[in-house]
Amino acid sequence: MKMVVTDFGIDKALRTLGVKAINEGASTGSNYFSNGGIIESISPVDGSLIGKVKTTTKEDFETVMDVATKAFKVWRIVPAPQRGEIVRQFGEKLREKKEALGKLVSFEMGKSFQEGLGEVQEMIDICDFAVGLSRQLHGLTMHSERPGHRMYEQYHSLGVVGIISAFNFPVAVWSWNTALAWVCGDVTVWKPSEKVPLCGIACQNIAAEVFAENNLPEGISCLINGDYKVGEFMTKDSRIPLISATGSIRMGKIVAQEVASRLGKSLLELGGNNAIIVTPDADIKMTVIGAIFGAVGTAGQRCTSTRRLIIHESICDKVKLAIVDAYKQLRIGNPLDENNHIGPLIDKDAVKLYQHALKKVVEEGGNLIVEGGVLSGEGYESGCYVKPAIAEAKPDFEIVQHETFAPILYLLKYSGNVENAIDIQNNVVQGLSSAIMTNNLREAEQFLSVAGSDCGIANVNIGTSGAEIGGAFGGEKETGGGRESGSDAWKIYMRRQTNTINYTNELPLAQGIKFDL
Ligand code: NAD
Repeated sequence: MKMVVTDFGIDKALRTLGVKAINEGASTGSNYFSNGGIIESISPVDGSLIGKVKTTTKEDFETVMDVATKAFKVWRIVPAPQRGEIVRQFGEKLREKKEALGKLVSFEMGKSFQEGLGEVQEMIDICDFAVGLSRQLHGLTMHSERPGHRMYEQYHSLGVVGIISAFNFPVAVWSWNTALAWVCGDVTVWKPSEKVPLCGIACQNIAAEVFAENNLPEGISCLINGDYKVGEFMTKDSRIPLISATGSIRMGKIVAQEVASRLGKSLLELGGNNAIIVTPDADIKMTVIGAIFGAVGTAGQRCTSTRRLIIHESICDKVKLAIVDAYKQLRIGNPLDENNHIGPLIDKDAVKLYQHALKKVVEEGGNLIVEGGVLSGEGYESGCYVKPAIAEAKPDFEIVQHETFAPILYLLKYSGNVENAIDIQNNVVQGLSSAIMTNNLREAEQFLSVAGSDCGIANVNIGTSGAEIGGAFGGEKETGGGRESGSDAWKIYMRRQTNTINYTNELPLAQGIKFDL
């Protein structure tokens, strides 16, 4: 195994981002320390060791929490627009380092360089959004039932926000949380996925520079590293009022219970099982593009990846032929090479889960019309490259109900009207993203109506994958119910307070209650 890869400018990117061969994994800003074991970051692109990160012990975590708790007391009284100015500077630094960070994301996680850059662009976009938001953290005023009284509600900073993130969006999810939390006056402690720890180090370095340049205290942006046990330091800690956790449903169920047991708040962004409904009135060309990008983009490792295509029986053969034909043109290989469409899966365990799903769909009676398989030989030495597969299946197959984090697309047929397709779509435990391809206004509106899609995201003539930061992002049912990013998602990072002021000389009670002395 090679030590550090020089192809495609990775070593230069690492230098630009201040990522070393061995990194201290706990940080309160400029201050880095760690006394735990080592995580090795192995690139799924070529199997090389990119660097190492020391994990966080309970003692390290206590240090982080002490510093973060003190920093909160300073940060919360900095006026919100000034906090926005810090986030603006952070966005500027991201612009400067976009190429380097996008490259590291691509090399450590395995997504295409374009998608790596796209992830950094999302970070920049959420910073811009947060800057504007910093002047709009508004409450409501309402009329009091008592004369001479004024009533309103206001939002105050919450405290230390714990962020647990998944491997597939190694940097963007952190920024969706931090950019909003920071303008809201919170401080953040982040545990990135143990599969992409160097992305965490790189982001922390960028944030630390900005806080230090502005003479702000240590502790506004903190980092810890390690596996689920380090995550548990946060979920069990009542000094952390909000845990924002992104990852599998399995993880979400554990985190939700742990945080609820101490009556903390959770923001959960969990797995999806996203479908596109294709009606007889669909534009087939648009459908094919949307379905393929959704199914094979990021090698099927997006929470919003398209897993199910629910096609009307009258056009099923036509759609099938077009998609199978398009799959023949897909190029699989090094994601830093712009000629390739699909990079590797994150690791060999993910490859096993992919193989298991293909075996299972056949056992359940499915038919693989694009077979898939693991690639080997030159360029595929990491053992993480797989071919995208398509299976004709039935909606109630056990494997179809399940999110397999790999490029496998299930074709499901429906007959009759669009309600039947919506039933199939909704009949899974997950509720993240959904889409309908149709030029029929009635079908589109039915899909968006209260009797339509039960997902957090419902699109018309767009695939399931990819979302803009301006909207609230998240899903229903076992996807966890959390909302991040745009719209009014900021409210979860603050505590709401209702205030009533009496400017008279009397003390009337609410609901006309008399209490005469
Ligand atoms: P994962 O659940 O294995 O790990 C996610 C994070 O949770 C990691 O940092 C991990 O260390 C931590 N963790 C695991 N168990 C924990 C515990 N008991 N306590 C505290 N922390 C714990 O997920 P993954 O494989 O990294 O990511 C893929 C999954 O994430 C998929 O299901 C995908 O759909 C989902 N995801 C969802 C969204 C969304 O916005 N809905 C976004 C990205 C990924």
